Amino acid sequence: MSFKKFCPKCGKETEYLIDNLCKDCYLQGKSIFDIEKSNISVCKFCNKTKIGNHWFEVNDELIGNQIANMIKPNKDLKQPKILVTLEKFLENNYSAVVAVEGFLSDILVKDIKEIKFQVKETTCDSCMKINASYREAVVQLRANDKNDREEIFKMALDILKKDKSNDSLSDTSKIIKLKTGYDLWVGSKKSAIKISSFIAKLYNCQIKRSKKLIGQDDNGEQKYRYTFCMKIDEKLKK
Ligand SMILES: [Zn+2]
Ligand SMILES: [Zn+2]
Repeated sequence: MSFKKFCPKCGKETEYLIDNLCKDCYLQGKSIFDIEKSNISVCKFCNKTKIGNHWFEVNDELIGNQIANMIKPNKDLKQPKILVTLEKFLENNYSAVVAVEGFLSDILVKDIKEIKFQVKETTCDSCMKINASYREAVVQLRANDKNDREEIFKMALDILKKDKSNDSLSDTSKIIKLKTGYDLWVGSKKSAIKISSFIAKLYNCQIKRSKKLIGQDDNGEQKYRYTFCMKIDEKLKK
């Protein structure tokens, strides 16, 4: 035989008391979690968002994770579980339903809140550079034949586009059309090398490399701008 228990605050009969209160009274005024809102911004040029010190192509999962990071569960909540359900209702406007559950004094508790927020548009460092005619390398594509010229130009742009998700500097900051070909100002030296070796191999041509000292970087190391020049010779084409 068990003794009946009554909550001294509300008078309700209860199976057990926590801190000498029924469950409802105990939970009154206690928040299971708080949301510390912080900005989520996405680059309007490359659609990437900054997490820590890195930029990642944005998707709903990433945004959901960023929201989860804003959730501050009650410090007494044991085994907290956070679930974020995201809904985009307008361009850059989201609503998120946040559910948190866990144990407070061994009682399973749960709370749900909805937040609305807007993803802010920004310009990431790489896109800022690309917009300011930044280039680590210049790729010079030359061919006497017009079709060859257009073909290698298109190939170069395709390679840049493909690498852009990993490297935001894989882009042109300027394209100069010449009688004999194209000059591409390329933000990433790595991408410029990739383009050059791909085209050189495909068309069996030499890469003329040169570099020019343009200054020093923050660590005092010499900074160069590289030029990769390729001239397609129809006779050497495979
Ligand atoms: Zn009570
Ligand atoms: Zn960007």
